[in-house]
Amino acid sequence: MTTWVDGAAGSRWDVTNLPYGVFSMAGDEPRVGCRIGDVVVDLAPLAASDLLDAAHVFQQPTLNPFMALGRPAWDSVRAWLVEMLTDDAARSEVEPFLVPLSDVTLHAPFEVADYVDFYCSLDHASNVGTMLRPDSEPLLPNWRHLPVGYHGRAGTVVPTGTEVVRPSGQRKPRTETTPTYGPSRRLDIEAELGFVVGAPSAMGTSVGTDSFADHVFGVVLLNDWSARDIQAWEYVPLGPFLGKSFATSISAWVTPLAALDAARVPLPDQDPRPLDYLRVDEDAGLDIDVEVVWNGTVVSRPPYRSMYWAPAQMLAHLTVNGASLRTGDLFASGTISGAAREQRGSFLELSWGGQELVALDDGSTRTFLEDGDEVVLTATAPAPAGGRIALGEVRGRIAPARG
Ligand code: MN
Repeated sequence: MTTWVDGAAGSRWDVTNLPYGVFSMAGDEPRVGCRIGDVVVDLAPLAASDLLDAAHVFQQPTLNPFMALGRPAWDSVRAWLVEMLTDDAARSEVEPFLVPLSDVTLHAPFEVADYVDFYCSLDHASNVGTMLRPDSEPLLPNWRHLPVGYHGRAGTVVPTGTEVVRPSGQRKPRTETTPTYGPSRRLDIEAELGFVVGAPSAMGTSVGTDSFADHVFGVVLLNDWSARDIQAWEYVPLGPFLGKSFATSISAWVTPLAALDAARVPLPDQDPRPLDYLRVDEDAGLDIDVEVVWNGTVVSRPPYRSMYWAPAQMLAHLTVNGASLRTGDLFASGTISGAAREQRGSFLELSWGGQELVALDDGSTRTFLEDGDEVVLTATAPAPAGGRIALGEVRGRIAPARG
């Protein structure tokens, strides 16, 4: 099926993609839209004119009401959209509701309920373990038995383009005996995917790996900004806290799970075999290529297909104790790092703890982020009929510490 939208067929924003977001135009109210090519479909008036049952959920400033409807509604809206955007007979009905992307402001796509961050890359966990504990095994004993995670701060998840103020806090380098207070000197990124929960679950029940697609609406690209000096001093024994909670950036577009069908791949070999509640079907992994762009220079290409734990295993694990899901819950994969140096998804790893310089195209070098630096994460995935689709980018610039 070929779309009639000018310039969209064969592009990374073809009708096989159709991510959702929240947009507004000068002076009007934010509402739900869908991207195809370089235009946004204004879903609320289009759905109303076509008498769609779900029309009311699009006249909202977040995706949450739409996400709460669940898988059958997500599938039928997507099928309706594909039909409208490929049927030449529908063109005259739809065209009045297409808005050039350059005319819109994009907003946070959904209201984040709870936010959890995992640690699912074997290479990332091994690299960090080697740096933090040079004299012992890189992986702690639990790592191959469960997807390790922590609860992050939902209130500071911000959309792409939001400035990130350099955090201040307690830092204690190994060479000093007491901590001092001040701006982080080791400000970093983590290139990750975020999985967005639409359909809730009841407290006291768990969500099995085979129910993943019933609950997860889609995927965002996510940058888990991290202050390594604050983190290194505070994290024992309860885990990440202020070194992470100052900001987490997500893309403005949420890629529907259905758009990633062609990206499904087998997981890397899991040894030892996971416990039964973590067992998954074949093709539980995702073949998504990420790029990390630092002040315009591509410094890394992390491969999501190398991740050890699958998204369905993360979801099963985070609910196995009966913790409920809410619409808007966000769980992230942890830093995506491959085995090669140029596949590392954090600057901590790229600079190997600040010891190796990263060269940028403007002739400068870096270890960690400087004020004014901008980081952009982009990603693509295989499209069903060949070619690739794009995920929404996530962009952020570092502003100097305040006070
Ligand atoms: Mn992280």
